[in-house]
Amino acid sequence: MADDAVNTPSTDATPSVDATPSTDATPSTDAPLTVAVIGSGPAGFYTAGALLEQTGVPVRVDLYERLATPWGLVRAGVAPDHPKIKAVSSVYAATAADERFRFFGNVEVGRHVSREELVERYDAVVYTVGAQGERRLGIPGEDLPGSVSAVDVVGWYNGHPDFADRAPDLSGRHAVVIGAGNVALDVARILCSPVERLAATDIADHALDALRASAIEQVVVVGRRGPAQAAFTTAELRELPEFTGSAVDVDPAELAEQPGEEKLSRLIRRNLAVLRDYAATQPSQPAAAGTRRMALRFLRSPVEIRGEGKVAEVVFARNRLEVGADGWVSAVDTGEREVVVADLVVRAVGYKGVPLVGLPFDERRGVIPNEAGRVAGGQREYVAGWIKRGPTGIIGTNRKCAVETVTTLLADVAEGRLARHPRAGGVDPVGEDESWLRERQPDLVTEAGWQLIDAAERASGQPSGRPRVKLTTIDALVDTALNRAVTV
Ligand code: NAP
Repeated sequence: MADDAVNTPSTDATPSVDATPSTDATPSTDAPLTVAVIGSGPAGFYTAGALLEQTGVPVRVDLYERLATPWGLVRAGVAPDHPKIKAVSSVYAATAADERFRFFGNVEVGRHVSREELVERYDAVVYTVGAQGERRLGIPGEDLPGSVSAVDVVGWYNGHPDFADRAPDLSGRHAVVIGAGNVALDVARILCSPVERLAATDIADHALDALRASAIEQVVVVGRRGPAQAAFTTAELRELPEFTGSAVDVDPAELAEQPGEEKLSRLIRRNLAVLRDYAATQPSQPAAAGTRRMALRFLRSPVEIRGEGKVAEVVFARNRLEVGADGWVSAVDTGEREVVVADLVVRAVGYKGVPLVGLPFDERRGVIPNEAGRVAGGQREYVAGWIKRGPTGIIGTNRKCAVETVTTLLADVAEGRLARHPRAGGVDPVGEDESWLRERQPDLVTEAGWQLIDAAERASGQPSGRPRVKLTTIDALVDTALNRAVTV
C-alpha cells in the first residue's frame, strides 16, 4: 500500500541491482568506479545506497549537497507533524556510515564546482536535484501580497534556510489553499493544528511563533476536478480530524455516486469513503471553540485573485467533468462563477524542475530528458528522482527510480558504453585530502560536520521533548558543522 511505503523505512523491500558485469567487459583497472551524486534528498541517498549495495563493481560515492544538511525533502519537505515519514532518514544514515561514501555539503554545483569539472574528475555523475521550482496558476492577481506558494510555506515551516523569511501573513481569518494534493493537505493541516501539538515537533521556531499568533479560523482546500480525481493519499486524508482536533467540512452534494465507481482504484475508493464519512459526521461534530475548521471543496478552478494591494478574494470557475477518449477526466468550465473570501491564498499546485546549466531540459515536464536514467546527450551523466520523472510519487518511489538509474549506469559500465575515466587508477577525484574541493569551498561540510549539526539540534530539542530544534540560517549551520562559535 502506498501509505505504508512512505511510513515504513525498512529496507527489506529495497529493489536490488543485479548488474554484475561480465568479466571480459570489466574495465582493466581495479580502481573503484567513482560516482558523484548531486543532491542529497531521497533520490540521492537511494542512488548512493544502490551503488554501494551492489557487489559487481567496486565503487566509491561522493554525495554533493548545496545546503549544509542532507536528506532534502525529508528534512525540508515532509511536514513536521509526520515524524514516522521522517524516520526514513535512518536508512540514509546507514548509507552515510559506509566507508566508501562521503558527504560534501555546502557545495553548489555551478558555483563552487562546475559540471564540466565533475565530469572530468568522476567516472559518472548522477543528478538527483529534485524539482526546486513551483508550478504557476497563470491567473490575474497571482502575485498579490497574501498569495504565496506552498513551496515557500513548506520551506518556511520546515526551517529551510532559503525560506526563513517567507512567512505567510496569518493576520486574517480566511485562508484558501489551491490544489488537491498531499502538499495542500500538509499546509492546511499545519495552519489548522493546535499549536501545542506542533510545539512537540521539529517545526521551525519562527513558524511556531507565527502560528501561535495566527488569526486564521478557516482553511478551505479547493480542487479543480472531483473528489475521485484528487491526488491525496488516504492516510493523509484520514488523519485530518485527529491532527486538527476538528471535523472536516465536506459538502455531501459533491460526493454523489461517481460513474463507474466500482472500477476506480482502491486508493480512490478509500478516499471517497473517508470523504463521505466526513460529509456524514460533520453536523454532529461542530468545531470546538478555539479550533480551526478545515473544508474541502471540489470542481472549482481559480480564475482570478483580487484585492486592493492585498489578497481579499478568489474568483472560482465552477467546473464539470468530462471524460476523454483516453479515459482522462478533465475539468471543464461551466461559466458559473463563485467568489470566496480570502485573506491568504496558498498555491499548492505542484513543484517544477529547474534546468541545470549545460544539460538538456524538457520545459513542459520540468525534467532532464533521459532513457532509464541516462541523460540524453549527456557525458557520463545520469538522473534520478523528481528531475528524472517529474514531481510525483511518495518517498519510497525514489528508491525504485534510483535503482533503475543505477542499473542503467552499471549496464553501461559492463557493456562498455561508459568508458572508464582516464584518471581511473586510484586518483581521488577531489584531490589528496580533499584539497581540490577545499580550495573551492573552504567551509566544506562533511559527514562529521553534519553529525555536529545533528547532535546540536537534537540536544536543543531535548529539554522540551522535541526531536530537534532546527538551525535555520546558513551561518549557524556552517559554524556548528565547523565547530566555530555560532554566528547569531
Ligand atoms: P500533486 O500531487 O501533483 O498535486 C497537485 C494538485 O494541484 C492536483 O490536485 C492538481 O490537480 C492541482 N493543480 C495543478 N495545476 C492546477 C491549476 N492550474 N489550478 C488548480 N489546481 C491545479 O502535487 P503536490 O501536492 O505538490 O505533491 C507532490 C508529490 O509529493 C506528490 O506525489 C505527493 O503525493 C507527494 N507528497 C506526499 C506526502 C505524503 O506522503 N505525506 C506529502 C506531501 C507530498 P489536477 O490533478 O487536476 O492536475
